[in-house]
Amino acid sequence: MCDTVTMIRTHIIDCHLNRAEADALNRASGAIYTQTLVTHYRVYRKRGARTRHWLSQFAAMRLNDYFTRDDPPLLHAHSKDAAQEGFYKACKTAKASREKGAKYPHKRTWWRTTIWKQSGIRRQGDTLLLARARGLPPIMVELPEHLRDVLCVLEVRLVYDRCAHLYTWHLVVENGKQPKVAPGPNVVSVDLGEIHPAVVGDEQQATIITCRERRHEQQGHAKRLAKLSKALSTKRKGSRRERRWRAARTRMRAKHKRIMHDMEHKISRAVVDAAVEQQAGTIAIGDVRDVADGVNHGKKHNQQASQWNHGHLRQLITYKAEAEGMAVELVDEHYTTQTCPNCGCRHKPRGRNYTCGRCGFSTHRDVVGQINILSRYKAGQAGRLRAPAEIKHRIPHNLRVMRRCRDTGQPAMAVARGTGRQPREAAAL
Ligand SMILES: [Zn+2]
Repeated sequence: MCDTVTMIRTHIIDCHLNRAEADALNRASGAIYTQTLVTHYRVYRKRGARTRHWLSQFAAMRLNDYFTRDDPPLLHAHSKDAAQEGFYKACKTAKASREKGAKYPHKRTWWRTTIWKQSGIRRQGDTLLLARARGLPPIMVELPEHLRDVLCVLEVRLVYDRCAHLYTWHLVVENGKQPKVAPGPNVVSVDLGEIHPAVVGDEQQATIITCRERRHEQQGHAKRLAKLSKALSTKRKGSRRERRWRAARTRMRAKHKRIMHDMEHKISRAVVDAAVEQQAGTIAIGDVRDVADGVNHGKKHNQQASQWNHGHLRQLITYKAEAEGMAVELVDEHYTTQTCPNCGCRHKPRGRNYTCGRCGFSTHRDVVGQINILSRYKAGQAGRLRAPAEIKHRIPHNLRVMRRCRDTGQPAMAVARGTGRQPREAAAL
């Protein structure tokens, strides 16, 4: 058992389970989920009932256990619970965002990720034993070397990777490491942007994290997807050709997701590293959650805003910052890009530079956002702090290296570290 809570992380490792066995497990999970869903709505729609009855999770689980009492079991009792709970978790999520048009889960599913809770996991040396139903031998998972000294495994999931067409294990582990002590008492602010993913800094110095590849990938993906979807719409439904095109689209989406996740991890790492260098104890992030809500900015900007996955980036920054011992606070970001840090007047900037029409003050546009977020955090209002004099540019570590290796087959060298100029010089050599 784990007494003191240390950091919880998810690791993805290879799955060497027999394909048929893995399929059977996830099919069983899907069947249990579907059974829960069907029972739930049958009770809800029951004819003759005076009022609609919304089954509680507890009642539904009892009822379903009764219905499936004669089925030959395959899953551990708690894995079964996890599949049943899945439906009610989805209901809860839908309820929370009903105003935004979310629907309650209503689709039957034949496949579902099988989940082992802590109670179904035993450890024997470097092997995990995942329990199945009574009488069946447990599934053995060899722990890779980097996970052998973890404190405990909290959850194991059998996840099907739709792009690679294979199964993977997702291990949720408590790694036994305590978060670090914050590097200092400083406060830095982060402005998340669409062109430059982030600007980090305080009153003295700002670091602009540049990542052109991100937008390049997003726009390219949108174009390729539109082209593929158009071609797909001409195919006869249910035909073999249509199925093949659909599979190609799934693969493309999955690949895009992987590339974006990778970049976002690297960007968030660069943000947190910059904050550590400035000895921050607190990171104030501009809250852009409602940036795309109910406002029509035109075709081009709407597309950009909808593709901008700031929530994920914020999550990544948050957990990486917490591991470094820093606190993360959200700050209202309204008018932070428009307020002049020098005289406090407001106007909309054009292009990448902000130039004040009243006092003539000029600096990088995203730095204005960054300093005003800091100003709002510290003084409660934008436009109270002067913009930092020193501006650095940085490209996330290993980003260019990754691209160059893939394109030209050159060996990986650490050329992309440091300021924005280095990679260009290195590329010229
Ligand atoms: Zn001004």
